Amino acid sequence: MSERSERSRSSWLRGPWGRVRSAAQPTNVAITVDLEHDCPPFLTTYRGVTQGMPRLLDLLAKEGVPATFFCTGDVARKHPEIVRRLVDEGHELGCHGDSHARFGAMDRATAERELADAGQTLRAFGCPVTSFRAPNLDFPSAFVPLLAAHGFRLDSSQGRHKPGSFFVAPSMLDGIERVPATIAPSAVRLPRPIRNVLFSRMRDPVVFFFHPWEFVDVTREPIPLDCRFKTGEPALASLGETIAWFRRRGAAFRRMRELGHHATQRAA
Ligand SMILES: [Zn+2]
Repeated sequence: MSERSERSRSSWLRGPWGRVRSAAQPTNVAITVDLEHDCPPFLTTYRGVTQGMPRLLDLLAKEGVPATFFCTGDVARKHPEIVRRLVDEGHELGCHGDSHARFGAMDRATAERELADAGQTLRAFGCPVTSFRAPNLDFPSAFVPLLAAHGFRLDSSQGRHKPGSFFVAPSMLDGIERVPATIAPSAVRLPRPIRNVLFSRMRDPVVFFFHPWEFVDVTREPIPLDCRFKTGEPALASLGETIAWFRRRGAAFRRMRELGHHATQRAA
């Protein structure tokens, strides 16, 4: 059987997370964080930014893991100190739109303005900002050419956990590397045995995404259950265990700008 048909056959057999990796093949893992106000559109506070982010950055520093932070222009203007810190600590600063409005509800001119405003705010921190993820993973394909026009090279606005996107793989579209997220953020907060089964079935590259407000206790906030369960210290502990699980299996932790190039070259 050719490598190509082997690959497609196992994808179909193994379901949305694909084939089981061999032990000799280190997985490329990206820890990504959508840096925004608390649980939009339900809350308007910034506890995740002011209280969750310091804890999260401390954990990543302790583990020596570089991450990618897709930040809104809004957070960067209101809390520049936290953006300064993540940049200084070697993480990648990416873009999560300017206002956290849904791109799927925008006309083209509004979408351009969001990208331009966020890009200008974020690049003022003096680092390249080339990776993008849309709020709510909602980014119409027709807008992808706008990303290149505004200096972006990678889009991570697709999610393999979303209906209709289970089999989506890294690809190139209009000069943009498209690298989907692997799984919903709340999955990492599931009980360890369930979580580990999911991990063992994930396809390379693995792209986790989190929010800073998951690392503060929002269990009593009026938000959906999947957003609030096991938030705060339990979420931080789960992330630490997740990093350890992949590290034991030889995984390499990469920023999205590194992982995107690697993944799309391999898919080509
Ligand atoms: Zn978001």
